[in-house]
Amino acid sequence: MVVFLDKRITDQQLEAIKEAAKSMGLEARLVSGSHENILALIGDERGKELRSLEALPGVRKVMPVEKQYKIVSRDGNQRYNHYDTKIVNVSGVKFGAKKPVMIAGPCAVESLEQVTELACALRELGVDILRGGAYKPRTSPYDFQGLGEAGLKMLKRASEKSGLPIVTEVLDTAAVEQVAAYADMLQIGTRNMWNYALLSAVGKTRKPILLKRGLIATMTEWLCAAEYIAIEGNSEIVLCARGVRTGVTGEYGRNHADWDVIFPLQKETYLPVIADPSHCGGLAERVPSLALSALACGAQGLIIETIRENAKPEEVKCDYKQGLRPSQLRTLLKKCADIRFADMRSRDVRASYEEK
Ligand code: PEP
Ligand code: MN
Repeated sequence: MVVFLDKRITDQQLEAIKEAAKSMGLEARLVSGSHENILALIGDERGKELRSLEALPGVRKVMPVEKQYKIVSRDGNQRYNHYDTKIVNVSGVKFGAKKPVMIAGPCAVESLEQVTELACALRELGVDILRGGAYKPRTSPYDFQGLGEAGLKMLKRASEKSGLPIVTEVLDTAAVEQVAAYADMLQIGTRNMWNYALLSAVGKTRKPILLKRGLIATMTEWLCAAEYIAIEGNSEIVLCARGVRTGVTGEYGRNHADWDVIFPLQKETYLPVIADPSHCGGLAERVPSLALSALACGAQGLIIETIRENAKPEEVKCDYKQGLRPSQLRTLLKKCADIRFADMRSRDVRASYEEK
C-alpha cells in the first residue's frame, strides 16, 4: 500500500499519518521521488481499514501497490501526469486530443450500397471514423450474424470512397488477422471483455483497440482487460463506456448509462475514454440526450449507430430502433459542438483532480 502525500504537507501532518499507520501495526517509510512524495506502508495489510487514512489531512490518496493492472494505470506510467491523456492515433484521427472524436455508422454492414451511402453522408457531417460490424455477436443464433469477410470488403470500399477510417468488431482469435487486414481499429465488444485469449491476440497486433466495458464489469475488471492487451505490447487502447445491465431494461432503455464511470476511470488511467449512447438508449429518441450527457461527463468521443435517411424497419437487419438517420445526427452533432466537453485539461476540471 502506498500513501500519496499532499505537496503542501506539514511535518506535523506527516507524523500523524505515521502514527495512524503504526497503530494499525504498519511501518510507514517516506519515499521521496522526483514526481511526488509517498509513504510506503510495510506489513500485513489484511483486515485493516487502510482507506481510513485517506481522511487524514496531508493525504492525497491511499493505494495498493500490488495493483491488478499496472501498465494502463497512471501510477504505473510516469509519462502521463494526473490529467494528461494518451493520444491514440487511428489513421490520422486522434483520440484524447482536444476535440471529441465522432464515430458513426451502421450496427451491421448489410450491403455495399448501404455502407457506402452512409459513409459518404457521415463524411459530409464531419464524422471522423466509420463503424460497422461484419461479425455480429447476436443474442439469438437465429438472428443475422453479419456478412463476415464479404462485409469487411464492403467496409473497406466504403472507407476508400468516403476517406473515413474504419472500426469493426472482432469476435474470436481465429479472425483477428483477417479483421486486422481490413480495419484501422479493432473493436472488442462488451461480451468479449472477459475473453482473455482474444484480448491477448489483439494485443499482439499493432492496430489500435476500442475496448468496450463488459456489461456487468467493474472498473477494475475493465482495466485488467486493457492490461491484458497492453501486456502484449499494444497500449493503443481507447476505452468505451456502453452502459451496464441493471434492472432497467426493455421500455426504459437497453442498458443503464454508466457515464459516472468516466471521471474515476480517467483518474485511474491515461487511456482515452469514449461513450456509446446507442446501446444504452436502445431507441433513437433517447440517443441525443445520452450522447450530450456523456460529453458533459468527460467522454472524449462518441460512437453512434446510424441508419440510412430513408431506411425502413423491415429492411434493417440489426438495431434499427436505436439508429439515427443522418439528418438526426446532424442536429445532434451541432448540439455536441455547443456542449462544454468536460476536458480534464481544462482548469476547473483539473482543479477537482488536484483538490486532494
Ligand atoms: C456494437 O457496437 O455493435 C455492439 C455489439 O456493441 P456492444 O458490444 O457494446 O453490445
Ligand atoms: Mn448494435
